[in-house]
Amino acid sequence: MNRRYVLGAIGSLTSIGTLAYATRDPVEAIEVRVWLSDRAAEYDAVETRVLEYVNRLLDFEFWTVDASFGGVVSVSTEDGAVVSTSGEWPLAVTSGTIGSSDLDPATDVNLLVTDGQMKYAPTGYGFPHVASVGGARYLGSLEPFDELVGSGPDGAVKRRIVPLTSSTRTMQVLLHEVGHALGLHHDHGVAFRYGDAVVATPMISTYAFDPDYEVDRSRCGTSYPDTSGRERKLSLAFSNCARRELSSYSGGLRLRRGDEESGFEW
Ligand SMILES: [Zn+2]
Repeated sequence: MNRRYVLGAIGSLTSIGTLAYATRDPVEAIEVRVWLSDRAAEYDAVETRVLEYVNRLLDFEFWTVDASFGGVVSVSTEDGAVVSTSGEWPLAVTSGTIGSSDLDPATDVNLLVTDGQMKYAPTGYGFPHVASVGGARYLGSLEPFDELVGSGPDGAVKRRIVPLTSSTRTMQVLLHEVGHALGLHHDHGVAFRYGDAVVATPMISTYAFDPDYEVDRSRCGTSYPDTSGRERKLSLAFSNCARRELSSYSGGLRLRRGDEESGFEW
């Protein structure tokens, strides 16, 4: 991650207002809401794909997932990272308004999907409870969940390893930003050898294939294998230690609106 973006993000967030997190323990249900930018909404299947993948890949034994569609919003940029690092999307979520329209935030994850480029990092961004990602065109051409991944009889992910394509990578980045919104970090991701290939899970994502990336051990206790010359594949399933971390998630966005609350808190 580019340090400039981190600083930019912090700068724009501190100007937003007081941070206040609700504590809910235990969390038995999480609420995820997805919005599309004007251009993202031009691709037919994006809403369906995002909701089904998020619903299925965040469906763990310790909570239920309520993923819903928030609507189409007009934002000033399609850049999936800048729309958040500039403060525009976080401000829309925390204020409950975008332009002249109301926006109904979700308690746990508020995800904006734009049609921003997916070639040069950063392509998305995740703060506590707020996330954004580009690449709507690639999400629109992703196979339905049951064709690409599927679930076994116990509800677990059936196909853990998928080819690296623009579509699978974009969905993985989307899951990565959702993971950040739920408090996960890059070292909650693992990479592992699978035959001649190296497979990366959502939180480490393609950082696992970057020789300059300086994390050598995941929180799962595994090291990141050397990827040079090896085929690269992706897993859309969160790692065991990511799942463990999510099982202790107790946060949530607390929004108070009304006459006595001029601003917002989160
Ligand atoms: Zn990240």
